[in-house]
Amino acid sequence: MELYNLKHPSQKVSFTEAVQLGLGKDRGLFFPTRIPVLDNIDELLALSFVERSKKVLGAWLASELGQAKVDELVEKAFNFDLPLVAVDEKRACLELFHGPTLAFKDFGARFMAQCVNAFAQDSRLTILTATSGDTGAAVADAFYGLDKVNVVVLYPKGKISLLQEKMFTTLGKNIHTVAVESDFDACQHLVKQAFEDADVRDGLHLNSANSINISRLLAQICYYFEAVAQSKQRHSSDPVIAVPSGNFGNLTAGLFAKAMGLPVKRFIAATNANDTVPRYLENGLWQPNPTQATMSNAMDVSEPSNWPRVEAICEKLGWPLTDLVGIRLNEAQTSAALKQMHDIGYISEPHAAIAAHALTMNLKDDEVGIFLGTAHPAKFKDVVDRELGLNLPLPPELKVVEQKAILSAELVPEFGSLKAHLFKLLG
Ligand SMILES: *Cc1c(COP(=O)(O)O)cnc(C)c1O
Repeated sequence: MELYNLKHPSQKVSFTEAVQLGLGKDRGLFFPTRIPVLDNIDELLALSFVERSKKVLGAWLASELGQAKVDELVEKAFNFDLPLVAVDEKRACLELFHGPTLAFKDFGARFMAQCVNAFAQDSRLTILTATSGDTGAAVADAFYGLDKVNVVVLYPKGKISLLQEKMFTTLGKNIHTVAVESDFDACQHLVKQAFEDADVRDGLHLNSANSINISRLLAQICYYFEAVAQSKQRHSSDPVIAVPSGNFGNLTAGLFAKAMGLPVKRFIAATNANDTVPRYLENGLWQPNPTQATMSNAMDVSEPSNWPRVEAICEKLGWPLTDLVGIRLNEAQTSAALKQMHDIGYISEPHAAIAAHALTMNLKDDEVGIFLGTAHPAKFKDVVDRELGLNLPLPPELKVVEQKAILSAELVPEFGSLKAHLFKLLG
């Protein structure tokens, strides 16, 4: 697989290099030179999720890695269910939250972790990352126990919920966590300093595991095929798919799936009040506002990092950008959407509820829609309990971590302390 840097098209890399680099020169995103097209879609849709995913990812990666390696990566990464659950006659939720950290980020993080571990040479790598919550949990869990990679996660002490903290600080082994006595920005700044420090960068073989890594997006293509496969067992028409969007990685993967030949009628980009994209689709002006805090906080993004990839796909395929539907919901509408779903017997959470309601607003009479369930309702227990007057039980994954002890080190927000700590741990 060959990729090029969207900012500097002359920079070309292999998949292996793109996974290791994350970003290209000037922080440009890597984009595939060629998008493979699959012509036997009906046969593919008849396969199981894992068998089909081997073929979908093989179309991109087998020439570089060999099909046997692709099969192995897929088997290790995708080991949980993703049911398509009907919520009414026209709408169904693809529940992507049955992985180990109860969020769809498990798909991308687990596949990326397997790739990074497989591509690591003899020396051990260190993944250094800062988190304000969910990504840290998915990344830590995905890399847990892998033999060639150490993970160090920085997070702001006291600024995330205890349950969130326990999801990634109680693992041990190759997962090291650091509670920084400051805020998320300070954590990100420390990570940046570490990557700029040659001793740390080269001595510990630093690698980032951020969400723009191409391996994550490829993994996410697979669940769109599963969505359509399950939908076609119930409805003959091609589904409309609504994607709760923040950084737009999820939607990018959906567009790749469609570009590969997957029959999807259209996509809806559903956002909260951070609506840079819906406004852009309406008036053609890219005008990010300051980020607003909302109930659907994983989508509180006003400058979505994957947007250039969305545009690149549409341009390559000759799809007008206006084929994409942008829909935004404010907080009152999000709350109403959650309640409406509860009334028809489905407990959701704010992110998926936004996408579900976007379908209601946009579906025509003869159309069927799928919305992506990006997180387990219990991950947003505070909001869901408050809005619906419930006391949601914790699922087993969360109950188990609730009992465990936090293993984090605590540090002041100074690079010198972090550097000393890293060398003590890993040097
Ligand atoms: C990350 C996240 C999103 C947004 O996904 P993007 O790929 O960034 O658009 C939506 N919902 C939940 C629960 C998330 O964690």
